[in-house]
Formats: sequence, structure tokens, C-alpha cells
Amino acid sequence: MPELPEVETISRGLANAIAGKTIGTVDVLMTKIAVAPAGVHFAKTLRGERVAGVGRRAKYIVVELASGRRLTVHLRMTGRVIVQPPGTAQAHPYTHILLTFTDGWRLCFADVRQFGRMRLIEAGAAWDAEGGVEPLSEAFTSETFVSMLDGRRSAIKAFLLNQKWISGIGNIYACEALWEAGIRPARPANRISKPARRRLHGALQDVLLRSIDARGTSVDDYVDADGLKGGFQNELSVYGRLGEPCRRCGKPIVRTVLGQRGTWWCRGCQK
Ligand SMILES: [Zn+2]
Repeated sequence: MPELPEVETISRGLANAIAGKTIGTVDVLMTKIAVAPAGVHFAKTLRGERVAGVGRRAKYIVVELASGRRLTVHLRMTGRVIVQPPGTAQAHPYTHILLTFTDGWRLCFADVRQFGRMRLIEAGAAWDAEGGVEPLSEAFTSETFVSMLDGRRSAIKAFLLNQKWISGIGNIYACEALWEAGIRPARPANRISKPARRRLHGALQDVLLRSIDARGTSVDDYVDADGLKGGFQNELSVYGRLGEPCRRCGKPIVRTVLGQRGTWWCRGCQK
């Protein structure tokens, strides 16, 4: 599933590709993918809207419309957005929603497994109230993170994956940041020392920023809005490296299961 760096990369690509364009026609080929508030017609409402910009919140791509409405996109497991130039004969395979802009460019939302959603949000409506702090925002200071862990007895890795606290971190970056900080994934959050919490805060921001620089991690079928794979899979320290030597201490990387998720880590240097 795409995590923060992948969604950020896709959002930036989309911003370059569609900002300023006006939506001409909207084809909804699978109704469950297109979500709108009760009484609001998804396709009719989008018609004529101009794209003011594209951003990201948590794991959502957020298309900002000139009217103040938003179109949020969650890719879930296999969702993809593909931008096609004018004259492209066929929509991408598995396209469920097709936006055609007045200049002939198209945006396809395709999803083999159909878990992804495009959601129309009315101007001013709250939609992300459940989401936690953005880990690359100014609000996420080292001291904020240190105090967030007070009283949290769950395993630190489960804490990092809980979107209620911090947004956008999934399995890959939780594993990588814990390795970078030298912290055992099953360690109860409140039992981590303050210096180690600060190390983990730095490690989280570091792995996310390095991955964004590399245009994300392509371990499954992730590609960005231009159809390009990311490069961070070549820089992973633990994720998917079962049995390979730890880059820090040389011991083999192990895989355990924590909260039903595969967890890669080093018994030698994560305490
Ligand atoms: Zn190690």
C-alpha cells in the first residue's frame, strides 16, 4: 500500500500535470468507487470545475478545486492515477473513473482490486478529523513526539502504524525508522527512553524525506503519476531483507509478526 512518500510523489506529479485544467466530462464506470455526500451528484458536480492545485493529507491525494470543493483519492492496495495526453485511444486498463479535461488531457483512476476511492468533499466540509499529525509538518516537533509516547503501552511499531496519532506511516517506514533509531519494534512505547524517542523522531523524518527524494518505494506495483517506479527500495535497511546482513552490525535481519504485520528488524542492534 502506498505510504506518505509514495502519495506525496504522486501528488506532486499530478500537480504538475493537471493544475489549472478544467474538467470537461466525468465518466463513472464503477459507482462504488465514486463517493459523494448524500444528494450530491458526483459527475455533474465535477463538470466545469477548475483544478486549483493538488496536495496530500495523510495517505490521501487531495485535488483542490477552484470552488473550494475537494476531490480526495485513496489508492488503498492497488489504486492508480494515470494522466493521459490528448488523443490517447484507450483509457488505462481497469479504469473506473475517467476525468476528461477541456484541453483533451485525461485522468484515469484505475484499480484492479477496487478498494480505492475518489471522494467528493463539499467546500468547507471536514473530512480528515480522524487523522493524526503530519510527520513532516512543523507541528510534529521532537518534544511533541516525546510526550505522545507517555502512557502508551502498545508496541512502538503498532503505535507508529496507528493513523490516529501520526499520519501516513505504514509498514515499510515504521520498520526502517525503528532500525535507524536502534529500537526493537515490540518495545512498549512508554518504555522507550527520552533520548531514544528523540532519535526515533529524527529517524522517522529522515526516512520519509529520503524516500520522497528517491520518489518512493516500489516493492509491489507502485508507480507514480508518470508511470515511473520509485527508487527507495534500493536503500531499504531491513524491510524485505530477511536473512541478509544488517548494514550496521552484520547480524542477519529477522522477520517476526507483530499486530498481524510482517516486521523486519535486527536482533543485534535494535534494543
Ligand atoms: Zn544490526
